[in-house]
Amino acid sequence: MRGPCPNDHPCYVGEHGKFVKVHLPVGGRCNIHCRFCESGLEHEGVRVDYPGRAVRTITGDEARTALKRVKEHCGRVDVVGIAGPGDPLANWEDVKETFDVVAETVPEAKRCLSTNGVWLPDLIDEVTELVHSVTITVNALDPEIAADIYDRALTPEGEVLTGKEAARWIVERQEGAMDALKKERYILKKVNFVLVPGVNEDEVERVAERAADAGFHAMNVIPLIPGGDMKDHRPPTCRELSRARDRAEKYITVMRRCMQCRADVIHCRGRPRLIWELLEED
Ligand code: SF4
Ligand code: SF4
Repeated sequence: MRGPCPNDHPCYVGEHGKFVKVHLPVGGRCNIHCRFCESGLEHEGVRVDYPGRAVRTITGDEARTALKRVKEHCGRVDVVGIAGPGDPLANWEDVKETFDVVAETVPEAKRCLSTNGVWLPDLIDEVTELVHSVTITVNALDPEIAADIYDRALTPEGEVLTGKEAARWIVERQEGAMDALKKERYILKKVNFVLVPGVNEDEVERVAERAADAGFHAMNVIPLIPGGDMKDHRPPTCRELSRARDRAEKYITVMRRCMQCRADVIHCRGRPRLIWELLEED
């Protein structure tokens, strides 16, 4: 496996127009509940552009066909990511099979996984064997603040946790995931942080410092898109977002051009299309 090179990855360099990037929608289940979540499958065809959202999940055969067509249309495939719907590690067998299809069909493409990280400590060897880059979304390290963001968690052993107990467990597991990734020198590592104004702005530096200590290459501070139980919460202003990014940048490289992608989108040198449009072509 090649070593990490942030300059080869559109999300790290922020030059989406120069790359061909495919998101394959796999999974559906999640192992935590974030109060703002609108990820998941579309209901009755209502299109919502939201991270982790998808029309439906894709089969292995469809993934193979889609990747071949992207290559024909766009000339190449640089990056293939799995980022929902749900958490990829809560759907690990399906995700693993899909990454096997990716490795067979476009072996030259980088394989990326985006997760909340809570099941990563148990799967670290399997994950790092298959992918080139990992993103973990960590929205707080203080369990009291985390409790305002998460209200439920499912452990790998099948235990359901709620309230503050869930928040404490999520933070502990995400720190464990960052520590497990620290020794993975050949994996490109990024931390996502959803900025929820009035809730977690003072956690941004702590998460940035922790990720930097764990050898992460970049941090992506993204604005809350109000949804789920937080549908009436306001998103951050541009000034609040810039300030949070500046605070994080004291510790780690900060990405500023995230497009908050759906789980079923293709970016063919910057032009977004849903993967289903390609599959419908004869
Ligand atoms: Fe939704 Fe992602 Fe949070 Fe799961 S980890 S609840 S899919 S936002
Ligand atoms: Fe890259 Fe942001 Fe899209 Fe993730 S959501 S693939 S970081 S642009």
